[in-house]
Amino acid sequence: MNNFIYYQPTHVQQALPLLEERWGVAELLAGGTDLLDRLKDYVSSPQKVISLTAIQGPFREISAIPNPSGGPPQVTVGAGVKLADIAESKLLRDYPALTTAAAQIAGPQIRNMGTLGGSLCQRNRCWYFRDEHIQCLLKGGRKCYAQEGENQFHAIFTQGHPCVMVHPSTLAPPLIALGAVAQIAGPKGTRELPLEKMFQAPSKPEQREHTLAPNEILLSVTFGGVPLPSGSRLANASYEVKQKETSDWPLVQASVAFVHLGPGNRASKVRIVLGHVAPVPLLSPEAAQELEGKEVNEKTATAAAEAAVAGARPLSQNAYKIPMLKAAVKRAILLAAGFKPYW
Ligand SMILES: Cc1cc2nc3c(=O)[nH]c(=O)nc-3n(C[C@H](O)[C@H](O)[C@H](O)COP(=O)(O)OP(=O)(O)OC[C@H]3O[C@@H](n4cnc5c(N)ncnc54)[C@H](O)[C@@H]3O)c2cc1C
Repeated sequence: MNNFIYYQPTHVQQALPLLEERWGVAELLAGGTDLLDRLKDYVSSPQKVISLTAIQGPFREISAIPNPSGGPPQVTVGAGVKLADIAESKLLRDYPALTTAAAQIAGPQIRNMGTLGGSLCQRNRCWYFRDEHIQCLLKGGRKCYAQEGENQFHAIFTQGHPCVMVHPSTLAPPLIALGAVAQIAGPKGTRELPLEKMFQAPSKPEQREHTLAPNEILLSVTFGGVPLPSGSRLANASYEVKQKETSDWPLVQASVAFVHLGPGNRASKVRIVLGHVAPVPLLSPEAAQELEGKEVNEKTATAAAEAAVAGARPLSQNAYKIPMLKAAVKRAILLAAGFKPYW
């Protein structure tokens, strides 16, 4: 890897002025499970590496405020919290969509090093992007090689996307389904952003997979605490299909959250998010609409799954993801509603 200057500030306020206004000059280092690979492969060659590992306090903690309606608490997860701690936290037991997704990331080594901030801000895993010898669109080249190349692990929602990588974070879909809001620190103070607006499909080197500015730091995400009508509960679940059971990204993922009304087994305030099928974690209002206000059963879950894939435009080698995604959406809905897995 190229030489760089290493900083280890102890406060976010010390870290911020070390960042630069354009991408590529400085990189934040959290667990390093993504960044170190990129440095060693010459995919990223920053002049400065700013470690977040000495920052303590809320940045590394999970905290909860009880919900006056008796429902799930409002939870804030610091960006420096390890993936393994998210998977196991008792404060998150009402949010299986998130904890099961965290528990399935990679293997124990990565989960014990990787952090929430690193998961949400990691760069994509397209093999053309990760090859130091290939100048793809995101590295200033003129074309996306996956469009006509080896694209079996790429996006199936491709329309309007010059780069067809898939967004790599498995935590983004459940957090978006749960309506999470990000707290972000920058030179002008702290701002809040709904997580569904924190991601973008990049198409040039000046863009990342997220919309944070190069001189901003993700501090935490907050979700839950919403009052629930009596007799109802917050149903949520994630389901992913993988080629390998461990140390791999999902081929497809679906995360769902809805208020499950006791009388009539109905779903309300439905949110369905598709993962690893588009350059962004994809909120699917079409799928949610199929379930909204209806009884949750095989029929309505299947209708939502059909609606979820209606806009898919697969590439030459990845149409196999469509039936997988349908199964993931249907199973996530049924799991959230408490159906026993029959698959
Ligand atoms: C074999 C393998 C399998 C994997 N499988 C999965 C999977 O199934 N699902 C999945 O989601 N991930 C998967 N991963 C990726 C893994 O989750 C990420 O590498 C990890 O979450 C990154 O966290 P980190 O703390 O190590 O980030 P780092 O490598 O330290 O940082 C990653 C990027 O995020 C930026 N960053 C970090 N923290 C912040 C912050 N607070 N604010 C702004 N920017 C920040 C850094 O600057 C850097 O660009 C896998 C990785 C491996 C090696």
